[in-house]
Amino acid sequence: MNAIDAIAAQLQGYDPQAMTADGVRDFLARLVTPVQDTIETPLFEALGRVLAADVVSPFDVPPHDNSAMDGFAFSGAELASDAALELQVAGTALAGKAWQGSVQPGQCVKIMTGAIMPAGLDTVVPQEFVQLRRTGEVETITIPAGLLRLGDNRRLRGEDLAQGQPALQKGELLTPARLGLAASLGLKTLTTWRPLRVAYFSTGDEILSLGEAPREGAVYDSNRYTVFGLLSRLGCQVIDLGVVRDEPALLEAAFTDAARQADAIITSGGVSVGEADYTKAMMKKLGDVAFWRIAMRPGRPMAVGRISSLKLAAGASGAGAESYQNESKGAVLFGLPGNPVAVMVTFLAFVRPALLQMMGATPAPLPLLKAHSREALRKKPGRTEYQRGWVSTAPDGSLQVKTTGSQGSGVLRSMAEANGLIVLHHHQGNIAVGDEVDVMMFDGVV
Ligand code: AMP
Ligand code: MG
Repeated sequence: MNAIDAIAAQLQGYDPQAMTADGVRDFLARLVTPVQDTIETPLFEALGRVLAADVVSPFDVPPHDNSAMDGFAFSGAELASDAALELQVAGTALAGKAWQGSVQPGQCVKIMTGAIMPAGLDTVVPQEFVQLRRTGEVETITIPAGLLRLGDNRRLRGEDLAQGQPALQKGELLTPARLGLAASLGLKTLTTWRPLRVAYFSTGDEILSLGEAPREGAVYDSNRYTVFGLLSRLGCQVIDLGVVRDEPALLEAAFTDAARQADAIITSGGVSVGEADYTKAMMKKLGDVAFWRIAMRPGRPMAVGRISSLKLAAGASGAGAESYQNESKGAVLFGLPGNPVAVMVTFLAFVRPALLQMMGATPAPLPLLKAHSREALRKKPGRTEYQRGWVSTAPDGSLQVKTTGSQGSGVLRSMAEANGLIVLHHHQGNIAVGDEVDVMMFDGVV
């Protein structure tokens, strides 16, 4: 049994003609498998990669008790609740240059942020809180009563991370903060999964590549660029195969080329019902593919499966037939609809989580925010709708959202004007002004 049929058999009431958005995510989670190869990745190249091993702290961070402020270190035991404290400055501790002397009762040490706390001292008074007096060579500070408690403005050794404690976990996406944390542990490289290779091409005889002269009925290929952007933000290596004409030989060559190089293939166009083209036929011929009708808007049709390199190898003639990389399972296929907004929405809703899983990332659905709708929205229960929205802060501090222009599934402008998608769930009906809706933000994602 092929992978599609095997998964279908596990699912209750699977109907390719009546998929729900959740059903699609569930199916894809069963279809895809994470990459297996790891690489030692230098920190500057690791942003957006996925950790393939836990990172354990080799030492305490910070390695010593140190000061959180520029000020004066002293012994907190000397503080009295009802009287100001007067201390003589015995020396200076600089960041990177510890003060080696010993401190007598009644003394303090001038200290800079990050400097190691002198032995026996446990509290820092920020410099702006003290009165400083100088008599000849002798400096004295006065700390007002009731201002501080023992331990204030001191960072404890190991406070960030104790030695041997996992600092970062396998499956975590490497963000700027995580790169910084790895660097703070002295690590020059991290063990990551290799980046995912994703091939993309647009289909359709009416699709023009940039540089081609306009002609009647033809449109420029925008999907190539949105998909490129979406994949790049995800940290995938994009294999760009451009526009492929609706001819069997060209389509076969494109799928073959894609399956040979890539872990996943994304196409746009040619999967709608009644589509008079060869794309679907070629997907069927070269792979195990399901053609779905999804209860959602935009983005109803979608093809999903695997383009098997074994089938390709059997069908391929001559050189290169043995060099297919996805020998056993083939490349995962995401055949997206052609409409530019449908492409982005299906990518965000379905392809992105599936690719993250393939990248070895621990699943973490995009958080949905709650915002008050500034307008009434018509919505039929029984399908999931994604509307393009602009989220802003209302005068009372809560979040509010309104749609951006025409919601036609080909209208890219309203997508370009949006900062998030309003998610109207399967069972939801009409939305009244002021109702709370879920919003998926683009920021940092798209
Ligand atoms: P299809 O899914 O092939 O029926 O395409 C639906 C609509 O999306 C048609 O109006 C196409 O012209 C348009 N379309 C398909 N592919 C692209 C593309 N790569 N760039 C821009 N528009 C496209
Ligand atoms: Mg078409």
